[in-house]
Amino acid sequence: TGPKPTIHRRAFPSEHLDEDALKVLRRLHRNGYRAYLVGGCVRDLLLGRKAKDFDVATSARPHDVKQLFRNCRIIGRRFRLAHILFGGGKVIETATFRRDPTAAADEDTFVAEAEEAREAIDSGELDVATVLRPAMKARDDDADLLIRNDNVFGEPHEDALRRDFTINGLFYDVERGEVIDYVGGLRDLERRAINTIGLPDVRFREDPVRILRAIKFSARLDLGIDPDCYDAMVAQREELLKAAKPRLLEEILRLLRGGAAHRSVWLAWEMGVLSVVLPELASFLDDDAPRSKLLWGRLDAIDAAVRNKRVPSDSVLLGALLLGPIEEAIEGAKDPSVAYEDFMHEVTESLAVPRRMKERMRAIIGSQRRLRAGRHAPLTRRDFFEEAVQLFELEHAARGQKAPDLHAEAMHPEGDGETAIRRRRRRRSRR
Ligand code: ATP
Ligand code: MG
Repeated sequence: TGPKPTIHRRAFPSEHLDEDALKVLRRLHRNGYRAYLVGGCVRDLLLGRKAKDFDVATSARPHDVKQLFRNCRIIGRRFRLAHILFGGGKVIETATFRRDPTAAADEDTFVAEAEEAREAIDSGELDVATVLRPAMKARDDDADLLIRNDNVFGEPHEDALRRDFTINGLFYDVERGEVIDYVGGLRDLERRAINTIGLPDVRFREDPVRILRAIKFSARLDLGIDPDCYDAMVAQREELLKAAKPRLLEEILRLLRGGAAHRSVWLAWEMGVLSVVLPELASFLDDDAPRSKLLWGRLDAIDAAVRNKRVPSDSVLLGALLLGPIEEAIEGAKDPSVAYEDFMHEVTESLAVPRRMKERMRAIIGSQRRLRAGRHAPLTRRDFFEEAVQLFELEHAARGQKAPDLHAEAMHPEGDGETAIRRRRRRRSRR
């Protein structure tokens, strides 16, 4: 049923495919279900890149999948998926074909979301204002296109159409060695262009986070952006303020972790997207302060670290991104810690930075002065020391300098490097 896809016969070398994903596909096939590789892994295979993870789309329902695999966990309340677990923490995400229900928010969805929000607040992950504002906003203007419910099962072509970009909408049938294309993804991969499935303005309004995703894919995969798609990203960028703030933060972190942080932030700045999600940073760059050069250097250093498989922690990533404007804000402030709080308060207008992460960033950034002065001995046993050193090293790399190895010294600290308070705490816990 449904429209005819373009079929492209293609065999990939078996070492590019994932053994465990193949096991999942075979078992689903043997039991009479349709099952394909889908999304990012098919795109990466066609681009000749190593895929990060392998996702499966299938006609089997989550509980059918669970019955076939002992190592299977059903996750998600709103968006139910099967996670099939393998050794080394590997997960093959196995999702049932679904379509995009155009229905607006229903009561069940709203209740489920409220419950999720409650949990986030109770665990201290987020504060009430952060959680409620986007939820209320989305509910207030029902007329807008924000997707509220994404859990209606469907056919493969419907599953392809609900996806974001044509290059992300391809299936691969392993048994037949065929790429199945309902969305024009093969052509766009050949043109090396990112394009939405359907009208870009509509798709970005539906889910504004896709604007950041397009930037990420363009930067990371070195692809162009289709001109209409590009114009829509610029035109709809203010919609990002309607997206859930935790998602925005996560997507910014993905831009930073993706191995093309420099290009991503630059593109976001050029497109005026940065001034929506991080106006503090955008105006810092607009001023063209000589210090903004350091930011690009730091982002290059992050990209180099990611290439060497030493991905900095989230607090280090965000700290490195915001270091310039943060230093500017606290410089000469009567109370630097109040100035920091004020600055981060502004940031959390658009990104939900959890309290724990804010404190950690403060500790990491706050200790840089001592690290620079070689007075790090008292810090070596603090739990944020490793991260402080990561930022210290990024900063040196940004300046084209080699950072002294604080670890070597930390192993033979002058004095014992332990604060009196810690020593007391340790003695007490030994009793
Ligand atoms: P990566 O290599 O970064 O993981 P990916 O393409 O696998 O890239 P994911 O975020 O893992 O991206 O999402 C998996 C797939 O789910 C995408 O390829 C896309 O088809 C679909 N998808 C993800 N996010 C969205 C979204 N916001 N709107 C529509 N489809 C999405
Ligand atoms: Mg993925």
